[in-house]
Amino acid sequence: MVSLRSGPALDSSRSGRRCDTLVIGGGLTGCAAAYYLAKAGIDVVLAERHSLNAEASGRNAGGFHVQIQFEPFVTLGEDWARSWAPTIPLLIDAVRLWQELPAELGADLEVKVSGGLLAAETEEELAAIERKAAIEREAGLEVELLSREELRRTAPYLSRSLAGGLFCPVEGKASPLVSTPAFARAARAEGAVLAPGSDVLAIEQTAVGFRVETDRGPIECERVVDCAGTAAGRVAELVGVPLPVESVPLQAHVTEPVAQLVQHLVYCAGEPLTVKQSVHGSILIGGGWSSELDDAGRADVNMASLRGNLRVATRVIPALAHVRLLRIWTGFCNGTPDHRPILGELDEVPGFFVASFPYLGFTAAPMMGKLVADLSRGRSVPYDLAPFSAARFDPAPV
Ligand SMILES: Cc1cc2nc3c(=O)[nH]c(=O)nc-3n(C[C@H](O)[C@H](O)[C@H](O)COP(=O)(O)OP(=O)(O)OC[C@H]3O[C@@H](n4cnc5c(N)ncnc54)[C@H](O)[C@@H]3O)c2cc1C
Repeated sequence: MVSLRSGPALDSSRSGRRCDTLVIGGGLTGCAAAYYLAKAGIDVVLAERHSLNAEASGRNAGGFHVQIQFEPFVTLGEDWARSWAPTIPLLIDAVRLWQELPAELGADLEVKVSGGLLAAETEEELAAIERKAAIEREAGLEVELLSREELRRTAPYLSRSLAGGLFCPVEGKASPLVSTPAFARAARAEGAVLAPGSDVLAIEQTAVGFRVETDRGPIECERVVDCAGTAAGRVAELVGVPLPVESVPLQAHVTEPVAQLVQHLVYCAGEPLTVKQSVHGSILIGGGWSSELDDAGRADVNMASLRGNLRVATRVIPALAHVRLLRIWTGFCNGTPDHRPILGELDEVPGFFVASFPYLGFTAAPMMGKLVADLSRGRSVPYDLAPFSAARFDPAPV
């Protein structure tokens, strides 16, 4: 068993602990970064203020998303979709990496890649899906447009009233409950020190790197890797570079286990929806429905979102009307204004790296951890990082 809650104090000497690289954030991105760094022989410490996997990485819906999401495609437009398209090759590779992880980490992560199905209810939606598919193909993503009959043959469990859809073969799912713990276990086995319960409070630049103050003592390091999820912007602000990382309160819904019903990751074009069935039979229903905030800023269940999510789910998959809901949970999802990730070293602060993938961050996290580990070791990565640079948020010169 990997301990997600306890770790060493960081003030093991009077002058503070030292390491090559400090990773901030014990979600999937941070634990993956710590694993790949330790595997490369780097002396790495990970500071997590709560338990490992306590935030979005342990609360998400477990979907692998690669296609351009339909809602921003419609609301932000085709120019936005083209500007987002550089993330597609990264996501395709991210799913390939997921498929290697069970062998790499020696753990069953419940990885299944059986494809995503975007269902259209109207001819207008189908036409928009066709325009979206053209941009996806240009970016190297294989997608297939499905007529009404083809959709019915591919997924007989979907409503007979659907107009058609799009099949994206590389999409799928894994378990958020076991993935971060598997990386944490593997990171510790490679020699990484993981310190849950260590809140990073301040970061000071020194002649040789950074002095990082945590509530469990100081730590000195040459490099910092910011994997703080919704707090990635606030952590970067500690070195004087605030980043517009948003925190979006969402909720997800899960049913009792039932016999095999949903074979794909199912979306609906007309309203937010994702549906997938776990290996244990329960059906996870989500798609970006918002939760509420209580007076203390904690996420709380939003009953209108619950009703809305179940309404669209049963419209697209009518058999779900006979399945009982078991549990609802909430979580905060990291976002960026342009939906593109932030990946790389801050121009203003050499040695400080950021890895934050918005909205689809579960899909991308192992790859983001691997890439930021390589970048922080001075290695190049096989992507143009300009669209992902934090510098894109710099205020325009006056
Ligand atoms: C309900 C929901 C459903 C989702 N569904 C999907 C999905 O189906 N597919 C998909 O791809 N994505 C999905 N996402 C998004 C995805 O979960 C996130 O983008 C992803 O988990 C981010 O991982 P992360 O490791 O970067 O951040 P997190 O998991 O948020 O981890 C960041 C960690 O940093 C820690 N931290 C922050 N500040 C500090 C500090 N100062 N000191 C120390 N530690 C700190 C936090 O405590 C946290 O544990 C969903 C999100 C939600 C909320």
